[in-house]
Amino acid sequence: MSKSADIAALFNQYVMHTYSPSVTLTSGHGCKVRDADGKTYLDFTAGIAVLNVGHTHAKVVKAVQDQAAALIHSSNLFYTPNQALLAQRLSKLSLGGKCFFCNSGAEANEAMVKLARLWGHEKGKFEVITMRNSFHGRTLAMCAATGQSKVQKGFDPLPLGFAHAAFNDLESVRGLVNARTVAVMVEAVQGEGGLIPATPEFMTGVRKLCDEKGLLMLCDEIQCGMGRTGHWFGWQKYGIKPDAFTLAKSLASGVPMGALVAAPSLSDVFHPGNHASTFGGNPLACATALAVIDVIEEEGLVKRAGEAGALFREGLQALVDKYEKAIEVRGEGLMLGLVVEGPAKDVVTACREMGLLCCTAGENVVRFLPPLNAKDDELEEALEMVGDALEQVYHPES
Ligand SMILES: *Cc1c(COP(=O)(O)O)cnc(C)c1O
Repeated sequence: MSKSADIAALFNQYVMHTYSPSVTLTSGHGCKVRDADGKTYLDFTAGIAVLNVGHTHAKVVKAVQDQAAALIHSSNLFYTPNQALLAQRLSKLSLGGKCFFCNSGAEANEAMVKLARLWGHEKGKFEVITMRNSFHGRTLAMCAATGQSKVQKGFDPLPLGFAHAAFNDLESVRGLVNARTVAVMVEAVQGEGGLIPATPEFMTGVRKLCDEKGLLMLCDEIQCGMGRTGHWFGWQKYGIKPDAFTLAKSLASGVPMGALVAAPSLSDVFHPGNHASTFGGNPLACATALAVIDVIEEEGLVKRAGEAGALFREGLQALVDKYEKAIEVRGEGLMLGLVVEGPAKDVVTACREMGLLCCTAGENVVRFLPPLNAKDDELEEALEMVGDALEQVYHPES
């Protein structure tokens, strides 16, 4: 039995079967990872858009090591310098208001919805309009917010207070607004939903509608934020500002962290006792996130995501032109999907055999989320493997 097989057997005996993991990873650097049997892969999942600066970036590792040796955790009973500095960085990059820190994406979205509800409470407003095909996390409330029945099935009764509009259909959103509506929540690029960008008309239309009706516009930037789309935050492409948005995945490069970032108008809605998180914004996570922001700035990775994204998209488009069953390239920056006819997981499996890790988004989209500092030759190597995988899946006899 190989080392990977031993580990998988132990895993399957003692870890609940909520996932279907494939290879057993033991180390990584940059875009490359190694499995327990010594095989290396190009990692174009980047931990599902978590490792925007790549695996074990020297500056991130140093920040983790230094902070771990100084103070890992303190609780929010005390001030810590890096939480203040991180909030300042995020504020200056975005809305100029204040932040709340937590530990995951779902938790950040929960905080954002709680903030909206508290803001609307005196006026009797609580309902949040979210989009069909969206993804906002796996807590009970975020299962209710998510516009996909597959995450909800079997968990009813779900929390009330969410309504689902059609994505990229402003009239559908408008049609759901009523006296109870407090906010509209949207992803600039739907990630789990299949790498679908919001149209400019939709994003600017939602902003205008929210202004007209006195609603909050909330953005879930958990997958598309932190430079991935070629902008620091996905909403920046549209020339609008939301009233608040959430971050998680790539914020601290794999040290679990989420954030709610608010405009000044929403920055003083929460008061002591309204909301909390024991680990939220702890010294280790904040030091790491500060290092991640430094790396993104120093290495020009926001711009690089746009350039690398254009290169990778062009290569995928060539495959669409070549293979009838490769239908379309979708997405933004380095958040790209290849829509295929038939199960995307067959292509993902074939890519893995070639040495490229990617993942699916829904049934028929192959999702590519490389580190933003992937080099041109790594992008080209990956494209070759995708080509070989398509050849294997769609022309098996040649
Ligand atoms: C991953 C994701 C979430 C959930 O984040 P968790 O950290 O898994 O709770 C929410 N929204 C979007 C857009 C995501 O991609």
